[in-house]
Amino acid sequence: MKKKIAVLPGDGIGPEVMAQAINVLDCIAQKFGHEFIYTHGLVGGAAYDEYKEHLPQDTIDICNNADAILFGSVGGPVNAHTEEKWNNCEAKSILALRKAFNFNINLRKTEIYPELTALSPLKPDLVKNGLNIVVFRELLGDIYFGEHYLGERNSLRFASDVAEYNEEQIKSIAHLAFKTALTRNKNLVSVDKANVLATSKLWRQVVAEVALQYPDVKYQDMLVDNCAMQIIKNPAQFDVILTSNLFGDILSDELSVLSGSLGMMPSASFSSSGFALYEPAGGSAPDIAGENIANPIAQILSAAMMLGYSFAMHEEAKCIEEAIKTTIINGYRTQDLALGVASEKIVGTKEFTQQVIEAMQ
Ligand code: NAD
Repeated sequence: MKKKIAVLPGDGIGPEVMAQAINVLDCIAQKFGHEFIYTHGLVGGAAYDEYKEHLPQDTIDICNNADAILFGSVGGPVNAHTEEKWNNCEAKSILALRKAFNFNINLRKTEIYPELTALSPLKPDLVKNGLNIVVFRELLGDIYFGEHYLGERNSLRFASDVAEYNEEQIKSIAHLAFKTALTRNKNLVSVDKANVLATSKLWRQVVAEVALQYPDVKYQDMLVDNCAMQIIKNPAQFDVILTSNLFGDILSDELSVLSGSLGMMPSASFSSSGFALYEPAGGSAPDIAGENIANPIAQILSAAMMLGYSFAMHEEAKCIEEAIKTTIINGYRTQDLALGVASEKIVGTKEFTQQVIEAMQ
């Protein structure tokens, strides 16, 4: 198969972990007889240096001509935000890109490998067998996109935010979440606040209708306050979580701390046409950029997600995921995963990826 990939490494550790993800993709191309055509584009501070803007038209054109976008991360040191180059860099690049392509669904995966449970802030017995949870979050509806008012009413300062959903928005994400559940443990929890909110009542109705088309998936509704608690008390019960924009924002951040390192969490954003962008959930980590110590797992797993979701190369995606597991089982760790035990081998970004590639071969 021949596929065109828009490669946008961005800033900080973006270029170094992206280079490793490309090495892994090259190995897949060779092993499975595919051809990947990479076109690199500048984004974030890197684009500002060249174009004096964070998301130039050249980069949008590259994305328009691709079958999928593989994104690194953008942004500078958090205390440099007054510099024009870094000011609102994230909003002007990745958020602008999400808007330009109408990405309405976000997927984030939290995985705890059984060998790395000691990194999790949860009690060891709660995660002893590892965890693997994906969250589907709707991105273009809900309280963030309704009318916002901040002013005065009846001589008192007053504010309101309107939450809105229509059935098409809910159907679109529900189908993708149920299809994903079919490829995993066939267990889906839809999260809402249907005891209070009208948008949640509609959410629950539409998800129940969609569920009828996926009889093999065990599905239940859960109130968001209960879900936030269950993630801490019994996270192993979750496989696929499906939820609206506001609840997804909060729950996916709660889940992101469970693995113990930001360097392991891949994510994807989809438009309703199926076009998608894949990126690590963490930031550009300027504090460790250029030192060959960044964890490449999130970027490599983002590439694996791209193979599975955008190119239907499921065996290839699995090959990458299994190779990462093998590398961890063999004791290789980047610095952020170090537990200080004698059996672990602390290696750099490139060396870790080399182990992954050897495991794939
Ligand atoms: P960050 O995620 O970049 O870093 C937080 C901590 O996690 C740091 O100590 C960092 O070293 C560590 N870390 C992150 N990824 C790692 C990896 N792969 N391997 C090892 N350690 C890793 O968050 P921050 O420091 O708050 O933000 C830095 C910059 O990133 C800011 O400019 C911010 O705006 C930007 N940012 C970008 C995105 C994006 O591109 N989508 C997302 C979040 C933050």
